[in-house]
Order: sequence, then structure tokens, then C-alpha cells
Amino acid sequence: MIVDDNLIARVTAEVLAQMQNSPSGEKTNTPYGIFDTVDEAVAAALKAYKELRGLSLERREEIIQAIRDAAYENAEVLARMAVEESGMGRIEDKIIKNRLVARQTPGTEDLKTEAWSGDKGLTLVEMAPFGVIGAITPTTNPTETIIGNGICMIAAGNTVVFSPHPTARKTSVRAIQTLNAAVEKAGGPANLMTAVAEPSIEAAGRMMQHPDIRMLVATGGPGVVKAVLSSGKKAIGAGAGNPPVVVDETADIAKAARDIVAGCSFDNNLPCIAEKEVIAVGSIADELMAYMRKYGAYQITGSQIEQLMKVILTEKEAKMATGCTPKTRKSYAVNKDYVGKDAKYILSKIGLDVPDSIKVVLCETEADHPFVLEELMMPVLPLVQVKDVDAAIELAVKVEHGNRHTAIMHSKNVDNMTKYARAIETTIFVKNAPSYAGIGVGGEGYPTFTIAGPTGEGLTSPRSFTRLRRCVLVDAFSIV
Ligand code: NAD
Repeated sequence: MIVDDNLIARVTAEVLAQMQNSPSGEKTNTPYGIFDTVDEAVAAALKAYKELRGLSLERREEIIQAIRDAAYENAEVLARMAVEESGMGRIEDKIIKNRLVARQTPGTEDLKTEAWSGDKGLTLVEMAPFGVIGAITPTTNPTETIIGNGICMIAAGNTVVFSPHPTARKTSVRAIQTLNAAVEKAGGPANLMTAVAEPSIEAAGRMMQHPDIRMLVATGGPGVVKAVLSSGKKAIGAGAGNPPVVVDETADIAKAARDIVAGCSFDNNLPCIAEKEVIAVGSIADELMAYMRKYGAYQITGSQIEQLMKVILTEKEAKMATGCTPKTRKSYAVNKDYVGKDAKYILSKIGLDVPDSIKVVLCETEADHPFVLEELMMPVLPLVQVKDVDAAIELAVKVEHGNRHTAIMHSKNVDNMTKYARAIETTIFVKNAPSYAGIGVGGEGYPTFTIAGPTGEGLTSPRSFTRLRRCVLVDAFSIV
């Protein structure tokens, strides 16, 4: 993938120009949020927090508008950088994701006050900031998460130290600098969002332990969610998913096929909400696969599936408990070299040359196949046939692994939809649409790329990053 050099040069020149001229026109050496050490990054965010506390909600909203505009204007260059640096995803889809969070992430209007008034006066409960938040961000949605978290956390009155994934370092640093430059240009405090120039797991660990970090937010896999939840601090965990799609015999099969291919291939399956396996009732499975092929899936069979396993999975021998026979069993890990890659590229590795219009690799497998059980995060979609909808729901619950993240269903039967939604208990349940309808693309509701299933905040918004504080005024201001 070649990044448009002119575009990069233009943006670099603009950021450098902004870095040399403060909003008032004076020369400045402001780092736009990027520091050498964790201590410096936290100290700058703490200073910015104190300045933000002194501003009105109206000013806070103006600052957020500047962030939204900069994110929207730079959506394309950030998308190109992310694909170039991480080697994952599709530029056109990342542009949609960046623009979506820039425009649709809720702002200060999300903060609500509760009040009680009566004989004894007036009591308010308000949503107040935590202070400096530490936010760990993934390689799969690097800039989308920084833009969305940044807007939400600042709308709630916080500042944030980001700990980006090292494989999206340059892109994440550029996003943070671009947003901070826009804030400063709008007359807002410097360093509302900070990070270290060279992020690493060690730096993330130091950030988590820092006494001035009041809250932690992890968007990533199980390891990082466990790390923040073990920190002893207030933490939000937005962890892994493995979203199953159930298709029953009442569904509009052609539409289901089109929606599944669209959702599964969006940003090459990187979103944690994207369709990861299809479980279809046997009577409609062949028709569904035929329509999926029509809408951009390429179906592989038999030895081709075996070959693909050797490419996209790495095999490990896992030790069994003492006394077990056999003493070891096979387990698999996803080969990261193929995460977020195009279907065409993946198929080329097993000797198949397909047109650019192919977006998904489809294969029919058994229920316990590693393609079904592992979160592949690439446009390889296994389909399992089962005898009826009850068997489909039972299998979907099993392969979702209790993540309680996202599930999708194509059905016209309200009872079946209700039964599945109740059984699987996911944070997001999408009916008769691609998975991305669950984050506001073609569905109602606001977007986020931090979906907190493990800790229960759900689709995070500014209020997720607040603490409730009560203010009591006795014997006054009650006019009843
Ligand atoms: P990852 O877990 O490898 O990395 C996520 C972040 O955590 C990175 O910044 C990484 O450097 C950091 N990290 C990892 N282990 C750490 C540790 N022990 N201590 C401190 N920091 C640590 O995940 P990824 O590959 O970047 O993203 C993909 C994963 O994230 C998938 O499992 C996906 O489902 C999940 N995800 C979930 C959501 C959600 O909203 N629930 C959103 C995006 C991604």
C-alpha cells in the first residue's frame, strides 16, 4: 500500500507550521501532547486538567468542536497512515470510521444532572470529571479510538494520557498532535491529550501505576483488560469479541447474505463488532452461501481450507493436566501477519488469484473448527450448518466465549430474536443489518470504538468517564 506522498507532505507541513506558531502568532516549542517520558506526559495532562476545570461548559464545547473539525478534515490522511503503518484494514473504511466518530460522538449534552427538591431544600447529583485518565488504545482502530475517547473524556471535563499500540505509533502520535494543535488554535489549553513518543507495554505499565492517573480505560484484547482491572484503580475494560451471526429459515436470505458480507469485510474485519462466524439453519444454508458468493464472497473447500489454516494460524502444543492421555493437545493462535489483510491477498497465499471485487473468504466448517473458535480479525468467514434455530443459538452462545460483546441475527421471527438476545447477553445485538449498524452506521444511536462489555458501561460516551458528586443545599431554593 503506497501512501500519497503529497498528502503526507501537505499535512506534515501544516502540523510543523502550527507547531512553530502559537494561535497568537508567537513562536512556540509546544510538543502538541508528545513527551519523552511518562512522568512528563502525565504532568502536562494534569496541568491541562487544571486549566480545563477553569473553563465554562460553553468553552469546553467549543474546544470539542475544534477537535471534531480537525478529526474530520484529517480523516483521510490519518486513515492512510494507519493502513500504511499497521499494514491492516482498508483506507476507505477507516475514513468512514474517523468521520463517524468526529461527527457523531456525543459531547457535553451527554452529561445529565439529577435533582431532588422538597421541604429540606435542594440536592443535586452532577457528573464530574475523574481528572487525568490513562487510555490504552488498539492497533486495529488506532485513530478512531483516540478521536472518540478524546472527545468523550474531554467533554466530561477530563484530560487523557494515551498509551497507543506500538505498531500504530506514528499514526497515533500524529492524531494526538493534530487534535491538540486544533485545540490550541481555538484558544484552548495545551496538552489536553498526551502520550510518550515511543509507546511500549512497559510505558503503559508505568502510566497505569502513576499516582496522578485517576482512571484507566483499556480498548484491546484480554491481556490489557486484565492489566487495567488488576491495577487497583477505577477501570473500564473494552475487550475482545467473537461475534456470531445466526441466520434462521424465516430470514430474507439474499439480504442476510449481502449484510453479512458487508459487515464482515468492513475495514477487513478489524472492528471487534464485525461478523466472525455464521451459524445457519440447514434448510437455508446452501441458498445463503450462494447469495454470499454473489455479493463478494469466495468459497473455498476441502484441502484449500487445510492450506489456509497453515497460513493464517500458528499451531502450538498445549500441555494437558498430569495424568491425561494424550499428554498434549493442539491449540492455535492467529498469525498476526494476516490480521486486517484483504481477502484477495489472503487467497493469493494458497495460490488463488481472485478479482478485487472479492471481499470475504467463505468456508463451511465443523462447529469446533479453529476458524470458528478464534477471533481471526480478517475477512475469513466460517459457516456452520445446524439443524434448527435452537441448535444455532446454543452454538452461538458457546463460540462467543462469554465475551458478551456483539451478536447478529437475520430472522423475521420475533420469538427467535428474543430467545437469542436473551441467551447470548451481548452488549450489542443487531437484527437484520450488518454488524456496524450497532455503532450507528445505518442504525440509530451514537458511535464508539470502546465498547465496554466486561465492566458494563456498554457503548462508552462522556458520562462513562464521570464520577457522581452530590451537592446539598438545605432549607433554600425549594419553591414548592
Ligand atoms: P492488544 O490487546 O494486542 O493491544 C491493545 C493495547 O493494549 C495496545 O496499546 C497494547 O500495547 C496494549 N497492551 C497489551 N497488553 C498489555 C499489557 N499487559 N499491559 C499494558 N498494555 C498492554 O489488541 P489489538 O490487537 O491492538 O486490538 C485487537 C483486540 O482488541 C481484539 O481482541 C479486539 O476484539 C479488541 N478490541 C475491543 C474493542 C472494544 O470496544 N471492546 C475495540 C477494539 C478492539
